[in-house]
Amino acid sequence: MDFAISEKTQAVLGMIDEFVEKELIPLEPEFLTKTFRQMLPVLEEKRRMVKKMELWAPNHPVELGGMGLGLVEHGLVSEALGRSPLGHFVFGCQAPDAGNIEILHGHGTPEQKEKFLAPLVNGDIRSCFSMTEVEMPGSNPVMMETTAVKDGDDYIINGQKWYSTAADGSAFSIVMAVTNPDAPRYFQASMIIVPTDNPGFNLVRNIPVMGHTGDDYASHGEVLFQNCRVPQKNLLGQEGAGFVIAQERLGPGRIHHCMRWLGICKRAFDLMCHRAAHRLIAPGKTLATKQLIQSWVAESAAEIQAARLMVLHAAWAMETIGHKAARDEVSFIKFYVAGIMQKVIDRALQVHGGLGMTDDTIIAYFYRHERAARIYDGADEVHKMAVSRRILQSYENRTVR
Ligand SMILES: Cc1cc2nc3c(=O)[nH]c(=O)nc-3n(C[C@H](O)[C@H](O)[C@H](O)COP(=O)(O)OP(=O)(O)OC[C@H]3O[C@@H](n4cnc5c(N)ncnc54)[C@H](O)[C@@H]3O)c2cc1C
Repeated sequence: MDFAISEKTQAVLGMIDEFVEKELIPLEPEFLTKTFRQMLPVLEEKRRMVKKMELWAPNHPVELGGMGLGLVEHGLVSEALGRSPLGHFVFGCQAPDAGNIEILHGHGTPEQKEKFLAPLVNGDIRSCFSMTEVEMPGSNPVMMETTAVKDGDDYIINGQKWYSTAADGSAFSIVMAVTNPDAPRYFQASMIIVPTDNPGFNLVRNIPVMGHTGDDYASHGEVLFQNCRVPQKNLLGQEGAGFVIAQERLGPGRIHHCMRWLGICKRAFDLMCHRAAHRLIAPGKTLATKQLIQSWVAESAAEIQAARLMVLHAAWAMETIGHKAARDEVSFIKFYVAGIMQKVIDRALQVHGGLGMTDDTIIAYFYRHERAARIYDGADEVHKMAVSRRILQSYENRTVR
């Protein structure tokens, strides 16, 4: 296999590394103490810089105003941006907007594209994605209670969602609701665009997550749809195609997340090694002289490398053999990389001792916020179950000696 990175991509990665180092990491102490809304003016200024450098929306098609990078190339970009929690937002490729842009690009009508897609890609508005429900298992989303019932030219939506990431301040949500209750299970739900100023769209609260309620983009909303009336022309794609479209959205999204997590691993690893090399633990002796710490350094380096190769391979497989054929590779990385990231962040925190628990470094932020990686986009156990089921099925009619 050819692991070479093209000169063009190397140049892009070099510019991004420098930008993250010089423009974003210095903003982090402010980011950790202020609200996201208070940060917006400076973040908008950085976004303008990124646009001027022609690095805006790296993963989105050129005709939409992005750079048009493929999955492997954007994976590498996502890794570089992941070193700072501000990276993806400032470069216009943050979740959940990135996934919503893909959906609108692939399934939107010309009118939907003009009204919702164009300003979203440009960063003029934000959006959220409302699938998970408070009372129903997100791991088995076909058990959905939210309904969209036809009334004249409209749908009337009722239901209670939560974990609609970034709902606070979003211009619209892409909502999953049951439109065809009598269809086979996977064809009962549809995706519908709901502007957030629509009567009946109620942001109940930003959910406190790991001690942090958050605001604006950095939040997770609970949303109550109460007789929320939207025109049927807000339907995305075919009626009943909601889960099929959701699956399309999740595959590339998982690659982006995994590469972002590798950027986080890299940052935590750098901080851990720097701390070990400089922290005196006895006169003339640094932490780096201790075998146990050396073992963490070596294990982390090897695990990050293994995870990175797995993700790049999965991205390559998705691009060459397609989403469905690469589904095992994608499940492997979803639980494997999330686990490695948790281990590496934990070791980095431990090496920093009391300092690691404070917000004087970025490690505690990563520790709090990235625990969720083992839950969203399919909990670890769900991916393991799906992969092992397929593996074990393949042995049913085989003889092994
Ligand atoms: C930070 C964060 C952001 C999110 N953003 C969004 C968003 O923008 N939009 C959105 O719609 N949702 C979002 N979610 C919701 C997320 O998709 C769900 O939390 C996830 O799908 C799990 O669903 P659940 O919470 O209902 O857990 P459940 O489905 O109740 O599962 C709970 C646990 O049970 C176990 N489990 C479940 N099924 C199985 C199984 N088959 N075999 C073995 N064990 C199993 C797993 O350990 C799982 O963690 C977000 C969640 C988080 C934490």
